[in-house]
Amino acid sequence: MAKKKNTLTTAFGIPVADDLNSQTAGERGPVLMQDVHLLEKLGHFDRERIPERVVHAKGAGAWGYFEVTADVTNYTKANFLSKIGKKTEVFVRFSTVGGEKGSADAARDPRGFAVKFYTEEGNYDLVGNNTPVFFIRDPLKFPDFIHTQKRHPATNCKDPDMFWDFLSLTPESIHQVTVLFSDRGTPATHRNMNGYSSHTFKWYNDKGEYHWVQYHFKTDQGIKSLTRQEAETLSGKDPDHATRDLYEAIQRGDYPSWTLEMQIMTPEQAKDYRFDIFDITKVWPHSDIPPTTIGKLVLNRNPENYFAEVEQAAFCPGNLVPGIAASPDKMLQARLFSYHDTHLHRLGPNYHLLPVNAPKNAPENSYQRDGFMRFDANGGDGPNYWPNSFEGPTPNPQAAEPPFEVSGEAARHPYGHPNDDFVQAGNLYRDVMSDQDRENLIGNIVDHLGGAQKRIKLRQTALFFKADQDYGRRVAEGLGLDTGEVERLAEMTDKERAEATA
Ligand code: NDP
Repeated sequence: MAKKKNTLTTAFGIPVADDLNSQTAGERGPVLMQDVHLLEKLGHFDRERIPERVVHAKGAGAWGYFEVTADVTNYTKANFLSKIGKKTEVFVRFSTVGGEKGSADAARDPRGFAVKFYTEEGNYDLVGNNTPVFFIRDPLKFPDFIHTQKRHPATNCKDPDMFWDFLSLTPESIHQVTVLFSDRGTPATHRNMNGYSSHTFKWYNDKGEYHWVQYHFKTDQGIKSLTRQEAETLSGKDPDHATRDLYEAIQRGDYPSWTLEMQIMTPEQAKDYRFDIFDITKVWPHSDIPPTTIGKLVLNRNPENYFAEVEQAAFCPGNLVPGIAASPDKMLQARLFSYHDTHLHRLGPNYHLLPVNAPKNAPENSYQRDGFMRFDANGGDGPNYWPNSFEGPTPNPQAAEPPFEVSGEAARHPYGHPNDDFVQAGNLYRDVMSDQDRENLIGNIVDHLGGAQKRIKLRQTALFFKADQDYGRRVAEGLGLDTGEVERLAEMTDKERAEATA
């Protein structure tokens, strides 16, 4: 903590004479109402907590910069990406997803990897994860999914039945489950993991041509993961180990960095691609779309105040600058709404004025006014409506994204190719993981799934079997299940399997 000498005041700047003894009627008498300093102090303390984030509650953050290292002007007109060597200030927040604000950093969970770029065209938020895929592809399932990762409504404990019941009835989750239960599900520190956009985004250039892209921030510190046993020990001994690691590394000048690689796909490639490129449960294989290096992210400054900077930081995937647009990914479409919405609840309608969220390098010129805690000039005496003839801010058509053709019937369309869901999970297990990775994966699954009811174990193990027979057999053996029964369940349709294990 920094040393500073000042006279203590009330919140309104009035000097305080004594901060150790409340005013009382006599030495042993009751406390007096006229002790306004005491009343103010208690009243503020009573209101110190703001709503916890419903997901990503436990986090750590730091300041730094992003530097462009390759020419990408063919693909995007985003000003902050317009020149090799151009640097943009960033704030980055890492987090776990399911645990509360005081939960352990070493929990098995995806990690949030959210980057706020303070560009000259407004704030650009890239709100990614340390996994390139996600559990579900339709946002209608998101609240249900998160409920199952949190606490049981009656016991208020984490519950393996809830956890695996939902996942085993949601086969599209198999790829992310495989990533999560590998040792990458417990990164050694925030510095030792990658960050992925996971979603597909659109980049468009100044000619109106567009490409589909995915972002990969590759850690320059190297991937390091914890084994299950290491994560369990660390959770008990030092639940804040990754938060502390990030702070201490920056404090000693060991600035963590990530190399940004992009996968870039033409609209023509996307049209005929063998799966839906907007489906967040899938990656784009590197052999089809090789990543190309375009920049560097460096974190070199710690927050001075955790609450002001990290807790109040609010990222919104809808904060996109000209040159970058959303894709039709359904999960992304829902996040465009949900993040802003939850910050309105958590921080209030003027959260964009908080220093960490305010656009540092582009003025805010909107017609939004008033609301709780409007602590700037609130637009002063300027017009508060559009159109107006009083020289208020005017829209700029140059900021529009190129049109994007859509067609089809408005309906609740089920996913058409459910068998696709197992291909990449199988590839990961067979082709990418080492023998040791596979052994740890099986051990991690058996340890966790072992707590669920037998019918749920069978249903989930059938999904592992569908991804890869060896994978399913080894989990079955670890759980003491009949492999023949697992194989029979794997051959059924999702509906039949759900009925057979109801
Ligand atoms: P590649 O062999 O070209 O890529 C495999 C990638 O997997 C690596 O580049 C690495 O990505 C990542 N990886 C390496 N070891 C592990 C591990 N133990 N656990 C999880 N991921 C690991 O093959 P493909 O591109 O065809 O992908 C094959 C599978 O790899 C996918 O199905 C997916 O599960 C996984 N993967 C693919 C990614 C992609 O964008 N194509 C990204 C991450 C994983 P990185 O360098 O980013 O760590």
